[in-house]
Amino acid sequence: MSMLDRIPKEVEGLARRLEERGKRAWIVGGCVRDLLLGREVSDWDLCTDALPAELMKIFPRAIPTGIAHGTVTVMVSGKGYEITTLRGETTYSDGRRPDAVHFTDDIVADLARRDFTINAIALDPKSGVLIDPFDGQRDLAARTLRAVGDPRERFSEDGLRVLRAARFVATLEVELEPQTRAAIAPTLDTYRKVSMERVRDEWLKAMKAKRPSRAFDVMRETGILGITCPELLEGYGMEQNRWHAYDVWRHGMECMDACTGDPVLRVAALLHDVGKPRSRAFSEKTQDYTFYDHERIGAEIADPIAARLKFSNDERARIVDLVKHHLFHYTDEWSDAAVRRWIRRVGPNRVEDLYLLNEADVRGKGRDFTADLQALEALKAHVKKVREAGDALSVRELKINGHDLMRDAGVPAGPAIGRVLNQLLEEVLADPSLNERERLLSRARELASS
Ligand code: ATP
Ligand code: MG
Repeated sequence: MSMLDRIPKEVEGLARRLEERGKRAWIVGGCVRDLLLGREVSDWDLCTDALPAELMKIFPRAIPTGIAHGTVTVMVSGKGYEITTLRGETTYSDGRRPDAVHFTDDIVADLARRDFTINAIALDPKSGVLIDPFDGQRDLAARTLRAVGDPRERFSEDGLRVLRAARFVATLEVELEPQTRAAIAPTLDTYRKVSMERVRDEWLKAMKAKRPSRAFDVMRETGILGITCPELLEGYGMEQNRWHAYDVWRHGMECMDACTGDPVLRVAALLHDVGKPRSRAFSEKTQDYTFYDHERIGAEIADPIAARLKFSNDERARIVDLVKHHLFHYTDEWSDAAVRRWIRRVGPNRVEDLYLLNEADVRGKGRDFTADLQALEALKAHVKKVREAGDALSVRELKINGHDLMRDAGVPAGPAIGRVLNQLLEEVLADPSLNERERLLSRARELASS
């Protein structure tokens, strides 16, 4: 299938409409790159010499999403397409946004302000002609990521670009051109100005790569990660114990890569052992290193990291819970009650996440993991059996609630309610037959009077 055949008719239609009004239109940026790579294209972006006011006349129902910098969004069959007026070079003084927008009718000037040569190719959708003044196609063929123009200048204009560079190394599986790479460290002061929301978004985009570690290795080597998350660097080169083939850092990378979960789960995989450097001790007895309590310490370290990166409260809680509970060693000796207590401790809604994280964790050790995966499968089967029995696993599933305790068991309002409910749950986890209203009430009365 040729490139032109892969252009959706909606995009062709938009370009035709512009041409009918005497304007030019090109497909541009990431979508041309992805077309040339044969990758799936998610967003189609057009650029044009029509000025923003003309654009609004040609597409009266366009949404002026970024009209100040020349961008409107046109909805066709429920999908949005961005059309942007050609822009030329400007100055950047805050390291984040151009000082002024200056419109032009020169497609080459528009391509010149873009970040990387492979992102600076335009396609005329009518003729199929590619406009590629910076040899982006050559770099694509060689899988090279090269800044447009002088990399130090370009990275000093906009601090996000160095992070995009690291991300593209992972998602596009390209290599950084040496001078482009060398320009990252000297321009990190501009990177410092990037908002944490944007950093988080880039991290999450990197997590969609087959191997996100490609991005994080670049970030570590160039100093980007030392600014955003120095905690992760503590494990670099730190030897583990005989269960592991890799150092703490590498194991985090391998675990993240092996993790088949969604991007936030992969962030948890990245951070799961962040507590190891601060808990490492040498055991004379085993003549090996130990990492006691590293999950709890790690959860304490992961919490401010997730907050710093502006993850939502739910995402942060998920990341921290997963770090905290990532370690478990299931054996045949676990009783049903032990399995119920495990579910209760990690939280019933974290169980599936922990399966994926544990599988990634054992695969990321770089040692034979057959036995570990067998134990995980055995845990899954045991959890399934326990869940199918339908026994209570949380306070909510007890056959009485706080109200009943106050009214019928004489438990005073206040913190005693939670204490008694939790104690009742502990007992029900050990013996599900206790979960009956009358038995719970009589036990609650005992607890209240003791
Ligand atoms: P993806 O959509 O996969 O994240 P992309 O390259 O399409 O990658 P977008 O953010 O959609 O990234 O941007 C579209 C295009 O705009 C890019 O291909 C590039 O030409 C240009 N661009 C985006 N961000 C920058 C930037 N910070 N500096 C310079 N040009 C940029
Ligand atoms: Mg894009």
